[in-house]
Amino acid sequence: MGGYIMQLQNYSVNDGEGIRTVIFMAGCPLSCAWCSNPEGQTKNNPMVHWVETEDIIKEINRQAIFYRFSGGGITFSGGEATAQPEFLKELTDRFYDDGYDLAIETCGQFDFNTLAPTLKKMNLIFMDLKHIDSKKHEFYTGVGNSLILENIKKTAELGVKMVVRVPTIIGVNGDDETMSGIFKFLSKNAPSVGLELLPYHKYGEEKYRQLGKKLPDSSFEIPSDEQMDHWRKMASDEGLNVVSYR
Ligand code: SF4
Repeated sequence: MGGYIMQLQNYSVNDGEGIRTVIFMAGCPLSCAWCSNPEGQTKNNPMVHWVETEDIIKEINRQAIFYRFSGGGITFSGGEATAQPEFLKELTDRFYDDGYDLAIETCGQFDFNTLAPTLKKMNLIFMDLKHIDSKKHEFYTGVGNSLILENIKKTAELGVKMVVRVPTIIGVNGDDETMSGIFKFLSKNAPSVGLELLPYHKYGEEKYRQLGKKLPDSSFEIPSDEQMDHWRKMASDEGLNVVSYR
């Protein structure tokens, strides 16, 4: 078997513990207006290719020494790592049996019953929450947030270490009211998770040009360090565990 990926990125340090290989898997049910990996939203573009599972496993085994000495491992990312559930399951089962440390980055839009057995084999789950208001979530990402909120609650109960990541964007969710809504939801429904606030960046813009896609809305702004500290303090005051993997 196999699946569609953009790339394997070795020596990553931002996507879990230690030195990691990130597998960027293709396809995504969302279409976020600020997406920094627009090539990952579909399987049909020149930056996506099919790989056999065995070829990925061989490449991972070549990197094993780095994981062993750094406490690192493998991170499934995207696009959306859950968009090819069978491919993800096959890779997860194989790597889990071989004792690798596994992490996943997901947008949260997935069928919980299908994914739960795979998620239980992770050492760390990063799940995004982009907006607490479902209408605004739909406006900016193409889907409402009800399934994502439900999946945050259910996944937090799996007993796997979990971090909810909020991409923080002035003009989308970077205001006190929205942040407060997100923090209250988490402290009520998933108090055990870590929270990571990630400031918006514009690193993906060159990819939009390469793909001939419209650039993200120019009114989206990067929050200042002071604004990020302010929201991190608000989250701590709400009782949340604020973490950073960057
Ligand atoms: S969930 Fe991630 S990959 Fe999918 S559209 Fe949004 S930012 Fe892009």
